[in-house]
Amino acid sequence: MLISHILVPTDGSDTARKAAAYGLELAALTHATVTLLTVIDRSVFVGRPSVPASETPTEIVEPLEDFLKQAAQSDMDEIETLNEQYQVPLRQIIRYGHPVEQIISEAETCGADMIVMGSHGRSALEAALLGSVTFGVVHKDTTIPILIVRK
Ligand code: ATP
Ligand code: MN
Repeated sequence: MLISHILVPTDGSDTARKAAAYGLELAALTHATVTLLTVIDRSVFVGRPSVPASETPTEIVEPLEDFLKQAAQSDMDEIETLNEQYQVPLRQIIRYGHPVEQIISEAETCGADMIVMGSHGRSALEAALLGSVTFGVVHKDTTIPILIVRK
């Protein structure tokens, strides 16, 4: 079995960081490339039924998006720093939209042959067996194998 490209979706959480470390180590062993992906989910602040996206003022949306983009960037930069010990070829991607859809779409676009992600993320809902993003990716109709790193 050949692993040549690993997709590591990250939301900046401790578990995602743990998954990223695992993904980097696996990539170092298999000489694979890693794509780090953070999805910014606009639906959390625009496009509610009561406040449609078209009515959400741009002076609110733009600084929020900038902030989220900077946060995503610095989370991924932290993983780049971790990569100093592995020296794996690494690329960073930020996408906008629904995390599950965007993770699958990017996995297919970059030709990933494995997805490494955390069982949980940033949510405070500790009780869930599996975070909804990971649950969604596991249940999507794709043939790409997924490795779930426990929290
Ligand atoms: P929930 O979001 O369902 O309340 P949670 O935050 O604990 O629960 P998930 O969001 O499913 O759990 O996170 C699990 C893993 O999914 C994370 O470790 C990370 O690998 C990935 N992930 C979650 N959100 C994103 C995102 N916005 N962009 C990229 N990867 C993500
Ligand atoms: Mn989450």
